[in-house]
Amino acid sequence: MSGIFHKLYDIVRKHHEIPRWYQHCRVSNNFGDRTVEPLLMDKDMSDERREQITVYNFQAETPFGWTRPECLKSLDALSKIAQHHLADGSLKGGTFAIDSGSTWWAALQEVYVAPEMEKRASDGKKKTGGLEYSKANLMVNGALSWIKKQGVFLIVTHQKKQDWAKDGPIPGQFSPRMNSKVPYIVEVRLDLQKLCSTCGSQTCESSQNHVGRRHVGRIAKFGRNTKLEGTVLENVTFELIYLLYMGEAFPDPERIKP
Ligand SMILES: [Zn+2]
Repeated sequence: MSGIFHKLYDIVRKHHEIPRWYQHCRVSNNFGDRTVEPLLMDKDMSDERREQITVYNFQAETPFGWTRPECLKSLDALSKIAQHHLADGSLKGGTFAIDSGSTWWAALQEVYVAPEMEKRASDGKKKTGGLEYSKANLMVNGALSWIKKQGVFLIVTHQKKQDWAKDGPIPGQFSPRMNSKVPYIVEVRLDLQKLCSTCGSQTCESSQNHVGRRHVGRIAKFGRNTKLEGTVLENVTFELIYLLYMGEAFPDPERIKP
């Protein structure tokens, strides 16, 4: 086994649709507005597996959203968590997830971008557009490349937003909410969708006859392999993505058994 474990998965999804991704997770850092504990109650997951997952939740203390001190505290805590779990190599081959990457990115902006903008405004200088983002981009790139170098799989999840054309929303086409701002290199990008088993719609609300949902993942990026882009996989799992990416089965299936 070559030991190339540092794959970065960039998973675009709506909140809490795909519990499977948590089944092989070892450390989950959740920045979302809901807790991820319900995902650990997935019926397919064994107690033993569940115990191996450490979940950290970062949440705003009030319903009015994150304050700057809260953002600062969460980023500081994330760096301590990463060092605690990664620095001694014990997580090698495990998975470190940053859940709700969109909110994580918003926290970074609040801490590193907003003060710069305010300072410029109070100095009477004009806006500089993207310039202020460079510091936050450096932080993101630095953090993600350090985590990747520790020999773990890294998953970043985002919420997605509907893509629009001039005539309205483009059916079935979504982008990660942080996509345009974060330049880091993503090796695998999956758009996870929950579709109605009867009509195939993502937004089906007919609960009468339309029971059952299919979990599918559309490959938006797969390393340098452009042939796989657009491929839709049913019940996409970590093992499947690993196999496709590495060209061999995951070497230690016991580690990722639910
Ligand atoms: Zn339906």
